[in-house]
Amino acid sequence: MSATLQSYIGGEWRNGVRTGQDISPANPGEVVAEVSMGDAALAATAVEAARAAFPAWRAMAAPARGEILRKAAELLDQRAEAVGRDLTREEGKTLAEGIGETRRAVQILRYFAGQTLEPDGETYPSNSPITFLYARREPIGVVAAITPWNFPIAIPAWKIAPALAYGNTVVWKPAEIVPLTAVHFLQALVDAGLPKGVLNLVLGKGSEVGKVLTTHEAVDAITFTGSNPVGRALQAEAIQHGKKVQLELGGKNPAVVLADANLDHAAEHVARGAFLSAGQKCTATSRVIVEQSVLRDFQDRLVALIEGWKLGDPLDAATRVGPVVSQDQMETVTGYLDAGAKEGGRVLTGGTRATNLGDGYYIQPTVITDLRKDSRVAREEIFGPVAAIIPAQSFDEAVKLANDTPFGLTSSLFTTDLSRALTFANDIHTGVVKINQESAGLEYQVPFGGMKESSSGSREQGKAAREFFTQWKTVYLDPSP
Ligand code: NAD
Repeated sequence: MSATLQSYIGGEWRNGVRTGQDISPANPGEVVAEVSMGDAALAATAVEAARAAFPAWRAMAAPARGEILRKAAELLDQRAEAVGRDLTREEGKTLAEGIGETRRAVQILRYFAGQTLEPDGETYPSNSPITFLYARREPIGVVAAITPWNFPIAIPAWKIAPALAYGNTVVWKPAEIVPLTAVHFLQALVDAGLPKGVLNLVLGKGSEVGKVLTTHEAVDAITFTGSNPVGRALQAEAIQHGKKVQLELGGKNPAVVLADANLDHAAEHVARGAFLSAGQKCTATSRVIVEQSVLRDFQDRLVALIEGWKLGDPLDAATRVGPVVSQDQMETVTGYLDAGAKEGGRVLTGGTRATNLGDGYYIQPTVITDLRKDSRVAREEIFGPVAAIIPAQSFDEAVKLANDTPFGLTSSLFTTDLSRALTFANDIHTGVVKINQESAGLEYQVPFGGMKESSSGSREQGKAAREFFTQWKTVYLDPSP
């Protein structure tokens, strides 16, 4: 790894066209790394390298591909503390979260290494007695993976590991503000023996290199996680160019607290869902719908809990909530807090940038209530440590409010009533439902993805990943007469 972070194309580190800086959100005066930013021409070179490497990678026996992923998992596991620390330095989530996310990437690599030993097709009874009729999953070709900053190693892992395991080659464009974590993940795969050109890393701005990745004739599929406006624009363009596209987008995830719930447990899990990683999870809780009869009681517990959480340096072991990732993100969140005040919102705790923590991008965990129904704070994805409390008169009204959003990523319900739990799981329009658990926090062996505006309808992780990263080939085989 060189002092200035570079792109990695066809097995070589490559300079871009200008230098950028990777800034610490806890201390914006600290430059975590210098970055050589690539342009569209460099991205095209990466696509060509991936195309050239595809035939040999496709031809390699799947279990041999799996062995490389397994070795990369071992290496990343050995490096997890150092990688997690760098992740925290550039992204701002707490050290425990940074190391935990790195270990999640290790588990994902191991899981997809194992998937290379699973059956890759099906046989069918043919209407002809002599025909051996089977269908087999084959790789798609060159996959462009475009990833966000908020899970800078887990999301790349759950895209790149299955793409590689199933025999595709990859061009990866991580979010420009987390290049160091990207280089660490790539390095583990390179050190594990990944052949040249199989995984290519392009460091650069989405607006500069994105178009090549979505339109180049040698790209077969695009897997994207990020914001709705970018994702939908990219989808329209990519489909026009005949690409297979997968999008995982934003959320406005509800947690419903019923009167019969264990309120301490609900408060703990709502706080975790809303404020860990400074609320910057697509699965974060941002609407808390509470049955009126326990509203005051629940609010008091939630506020008391959060006020005991330490906001501060993410490298300090006592910290529960770190900074938001960037100045832009801080301005977006404080903009929503200002809008909330204008929309009649009453702040129960937090409500502003923390001013006692230097220049870091710290926002106090905020609980806000009494918002108008059409309030932007209650309806739009904020992506910060802000939870809106919304009262409901009944279970039925709570479900209706929970579904009253264009998004449909995750949801959670707190109750001791099994019937209501099952009804909620049935009636809620989200791709993931948690009962008596926070809305965030996923396991990697099950499908993940959203409904409605939160996704393109495909699913990631678990065996579901195969759907996107492979295509069927059906073979009719008769003996020669
Ligand atoms: P973003 O849309 O700004 O960026 C995502 C990626 O797209 C980055 O790599 C960025 O550089 C790239 N990009 C930007 N413009 C592009 C263009 N014109 N062409 C191609 N690529 C371009 O999102 P973000 O701020 O990095 O991430 C936060 C968003 O991601 C939130 O909306 C969050 O909900 C969403 N998210 C969703 C999931 C999920 O699984 N559903 C998970 C994590 C984050």
